[in-house]
Amino acid sequence: MGKNTIIDMRSDTVTLPTCEMLDAITKTPLGDDVMREDPTVNRLESMSAEIMGKEAALLVPSGTMGNLVSLMAHGGHGQEVLLDEEAHIYWYEQGGLCSIAGYCPKLIPSNDGIMDPSDIDIAIRSSDIHYPESSLLCLENTHNRGGGRTIPPDLFAMLCQTGKRHGLSIHLDGARIFNAAVAYDVDVKTFSKHVDSVQFCLSKGLSAPVGSIVAGNKEFIGRARRARKRIGGGMRQAGIIAAAGIVALQEGPKRLQHDHANAQLLASLIQEIDGFNLAKTPVTSNMVFLDHSAILSNTEEIVQELGSNGLLVGAMPPLVRLVTNRMVNEEDMRGAARILATVAAKYL
Ligand SMILES: *Cc1c(COP(=O)(O)O)cnc(C)c1O
Repeated sequence: MGKNTIIDMRSDTVTLPTCEMLDAITKTPLGDDVMREDPTVNRLESMSAEIMGKEAALLVPSGTMGNLVSLMAHGGHGQEVLLDEEAHIYWYEQGGLCSIAGYCPKLIPSNDGIMDPSDIDIAIRSSDIHYPESSLLCLENTHNRGGGRTIPPDLFAMLCQTGKRHGLSIHLDGARIFNAAVAYDVDVKTFSKHVDSVQFCLSKGLSAPVGSIVAGNKEFIGRARRARKRIGGGMRQAGIIAAAGIVALQEGPKRLQHDHANAQLLASLIQEIDGFNLAKTPVTSNMVFLDHSAILSNTEEIVQELGSNGLLVGAMPPLVRLVTNRMVNEEDMRGAARILATVAAKYL
């Protein structure tokens, strides 16, 4: 199959559905979800709400849509959203926060995605008639461009308290919130209890083929459901997605510790390799970032070269990103390190 010859660490989104998911898809009861009649979607949404400690939840096709409908449900149009300068919502979501939701973004400095509460204090607008109104704070945990960095529970609580003190609503881009929970060995509610809304992905480390969830209070989810419809995200027999999502929620989170252990192993192996240097350390979840400037400055070229040697990595210029996931095991970490060493030796 060639599966063992290619080590794919571009992202945890490359995870294929498990046999159990495919089996669940064929057996699950279905209905029209726009009419709220798909029992499998309803079950996934109520399970998700319970896990996040919220009143209600909504299935959406992607994390991008989950964040967008959350922003739309919180407000938008002329209001200001505070988010860190490396936020996924700002970098990778087609500017939907401005172009669709209508927010003005206010970027907060951060250390690999981790903000300082005092920088939020400074950024809040006074009620001066010239200013847009600061109304929403977005947090991201784990932090993607931050290197998979995790925000510790106490700092997370402080950031949320700071936002609330200024009357802001708080949205958590928790695409990988289960990774953050696993990293600190805490329940996911440790984070979700502080926020008004949370988005998380079923389709990354949890291995579902499609889907994300937004959770919040009933009124908020009602508005998010309307927003989802407005942008064309109302789905019909979406139970075929939800069936896999249910298995992902049941089986996925407890497996993530293996991804984290593999990331630690890979990071320790890379420390032995001349030419590649760990970046965005310490490694605390399922991502390993590498600085390749000692051998080549062009990120695309290094990605190509690693790929032709059987290791697929993500380009995050001037770094490359390797993400552990269910499709790669401990032996693949050793294989990845061997390929990195081979490529480095070629250039040094
Ligand atoms: C992947 C990701 C998203 C978007 O999810 P998609 O399903 O790819 O649209 C949002 N936020 C973060 C932090 C992510 O890593």
